[in-house]
Amino acid sequence: MSADVATPPSYADTPTLLVKIFGKDRPGITAGLFDTLAAFAVEVVDIEQLVTRGRITLCALVTAPSAGTGTEGELRATVHSWAESMGMEAEIISGTGDNRPRGTGRSHVTVLGHPLTSESTAAIAASITSTGGNIDRIFRLAKYPVLAVEFDVSGAQTSLLRTSLALEAKKYGIDVAVVASGLQRRAQRLVVMDVDSTLIQDEVIELFAAHAGCETEVAEVTTRAMRGELDFEQSLHARVALLAGLDASVVDKVRERVRLTPGARTLVRTLKRLGYQVGVVSGGFTQVTDALREELGLDFAAANTLEIVDGRLTGRVTGEIVDRAGKARLLRRFAAEAGLPLAQTVAIGDGANDLDMLNAAGLGVAFNAKPLVQEKVHTAVNVPFLDTVLYLLGVTREEVEAADGLVEGAGEDLA
Ligand SMILES: [Mg+2]
Repeated sequence: MSADVATPPSYADTPTLLVKIFGKDRPGITAGLFDTLAAFAVEVVDIEQLVTRGRITLCALVTAPSAGTGTEGELRATVHSWAESMGMEAEIISGTGDNRPRGTGRSHVTVLGHPLTSESTAAIAASITSTGGNIDRIFRLAKYPVLAVEFDVSGAQTSLLRTSLALEAKKYGIDVAVVASGLQRRAQRLVVMDVDSTLIQDEVIELFAAHAGCETEVAEVTTRAMRGELDFEQSLHARVALLAGLDASVVDKVRERVRLTPGARTLVRTLKRLGYQVGVVSGGFTQVTDALREELGLDFAAANTLEIVDGRLTGRVTGEIVDRAGKARLLRRFAAEAGLPLAQTVAIGDGANDLDMLNAAGLGVAFNAKPLVQEKVHTAVNVPFLDTVLYLLGVTREEVEAADGLVEGAGEDLA
């Protein structure tokens, strides 16, 4: 009785015609073609249409003419004469059945080019083929601020595609993201971002150091940490200790100096409109992340807290330390609070202390990250616009702009 068990119609042995129309786009082409075909009472098996620079390509796969309506030859002649009258080109190919079933294993491959060259496009396509994949569809997601193109691929293992395309991406200086197709992609509902050099352009500790006049000392500790002489927690304590005695009013001054990454507002605003929950985790300080949570309307924020006693920084932090393991733990905690499996999370970060979080998330994006981080995460974005992450989620620029009503101005936070 259930309508859910209906089987799709099978055209396996049915004679079918592929009708392709190409030419200058104008209103009425699609209606005109199907009006013409209606005289032959054909059934539509498949249909695809796209418009590129004012030229339309319309492909319809239809059954052969029904008995009593006319012959295939008559259908051909009628369609050709209609196309000619419209100044269009028509091609009709006869055959049997529907499209070949698409291979199992479907993936979305998103390519961000800045610019996208024909050489790199050829390399991407060849690499997809070499993994056994077939490109079923190519779709432009955005022209701005980068050219973003999505390839729908079937017949290849997602993990294999990812590995193979990552090599091409590096070689050609483009960004490629590979995600498995399926409802999960549409259902991703929590995005967690690192703050310093990800959501914002600055490193907050350096802003504090500038006020304390200890930039050099802080930079030295950072360098030692990078060399592996100190772990994150040791380096955090060592750097915060240099801030001891600073007047607490410096917190406000640092907040004022924080610069959001281009595209940050667009990303958060669009994600919120899509119903996503958005959070930040930072090895920096709640004194800054709480302000960001307020300003951007974030759902979650966690960071270390600078201890302030009698109006002065003590040079210590209080509470749970947010380090590399802490960030991954917080991602899990936020996901649990949002009632979501980890597979439905997206994490974005640039540093080594983001690695555990990036690899724990359903999709981990290394954002303008250090080479070491890029090597260990499957998806990298190397253009300086945070909103390009939307394209990896399949959101188009048009959708972003339509949501903004074009009132707030598409490039508002690129200024
Ligand atoms: Mg960072």
